[in-house]
Amino acid sequence: MKNRITQLFNIDYPIIQAGMIWCSGWELASAVSNAGCLGIIGSGSMYPDVLDLHIKKCKANTTKPFAVNLPMLYPNIEEHIQTIIKHKVPIVFTSAGNPKTYTSRLQNEGIIVVHVVSSLKFAKKAQEAGVDAIVAEGFEAGGHNGRDETTTLCLIPSVRKDITIPLIAAGGIATGQAIAACMALGAEGFQIGSRFVACIESSAHDNFKNAVLKAKEGDTELTLKELTPVRLLKNSFYDSVKEAYANNASKEDLHNLLGRGRAKKGMFEGDLVEGELEIGQVAGILDHLMSAEEIIKSLILEFNDAKNKITNTSL
Ligand code: NDP
Ligand code: NDP
Repeated sequence: MKNRITQLFNIDYPIIQAGMIWCSGWELASAVSNAGCLGIIGSGSMYPDVLDLHIKKCKANTTKPFAVNLPMLYPNIEEHIQTIIKHKVPIVFTSAGNPKTYTSRLQNEGIIVVHVVSSLKFAKKAQEAGVDAIVAEGFEAGGHNGRDETTTLCLIPSVRKDITIPLIAAGGIATGQAIAACMALGAEGFQIGSRFVACIESSAHDNFKNAVLKAKEGDTELTLKELTPVRLLKNSFYDSVKEAYANNASKEDLHNLLGRGRAKKGMFEGDLVEGELEIGQVAGILDHLMSAEEIIKSLILEFNDAKNKITNTSL
């Protein structure tokens, strides 16, 4: 199909694989781009030399457009920006920060800039900052998230009403049926995270992929709002967080409990007990491992099936 998102990114389908720390390296991003969608390298977990390597490998494995996600909380962001410019990465998704900071600098280098938001207020700020498109991500999403608990079903129509630039929906999208629903709400692009974690080419540890596939409805929670809000799969580490809240933990207590490198321990090293396991609510409906190409083919079939069912229905 052709719409503003496929034209902006020069891709075949308006489907975007989310940038996810420890899960989306070059292998996943290039596989998604090769299948006609937009693959994203999640740079938040990469030291500068690692990002450099992943961009090189991505370019060696696809001739199609791909992007890098740049979380603005990242400590060595300036080095990442220089690497992105040096390699002429065509598209950058910025997140977790003020869109005014880097948008014009990246655009002056010919880079398309998309910013991730979790509320209408931040969507307006991103549009004012001149970004090329917005990702509006609902409360269902995994990993870092907004504080307002606005679900995708409520967020997308609200943003669509006030924003004129291309709009990508995220949060709770793992099937073609969900793509159809978000399209009906006014989204033009569809960003998918969790389903691409449980994917052959994802760099997540097999233990984490299996835990995601076993997860049931109700197995995740958005927590640690006093630090950076994050949706986690419930495990032993999550239980300690819950216990800390029950004991009226201070922000400092929570910070100490989290420590450093827990996301790596859980998602990359496969420690399902002590690690931080970031995943969306939609993990509850995922049940088997597929390649990126198989996921994308099944998204298209599911979307067409949903569309046909709706087309023959009237209220
Ligand atoms: P790989 O995909 O096997 O990984 C290459 C390197 O990247 C490894 O150091 C690996 O860590 C690390 N790595 C892989 N995926 C991620 C990821 N999503 N987030 C953070 N680190 C990741 O390709 P190569 O064997 O060619 O290695 C390329 C380099 O990129 C490796 O050094 C690899 O560790 C790193 N890498 C880094 C990633 C990151 O997010 N930081 C992701 C994927 C690879 P390890 O050596 O511990 O397996
Ligand atoms: P922590 O402070 O707990 O740990 C830092 C982790 O990031 C370590 O595992 C470290 O790897 C790795 N890392 C990669 N590059 C650097 C660097 N330049 N300096 C220090 N550490 C680095 O952070 P988190 O694990 O919670 O988050 C890591 C990063 O990912 C942050 O920048 C955060 O903003 C980002 N993030 C992005 C998300 C997204 O894109 N949606 C979601 C969640 C986090 P090592 O152990 O090998 O030293």
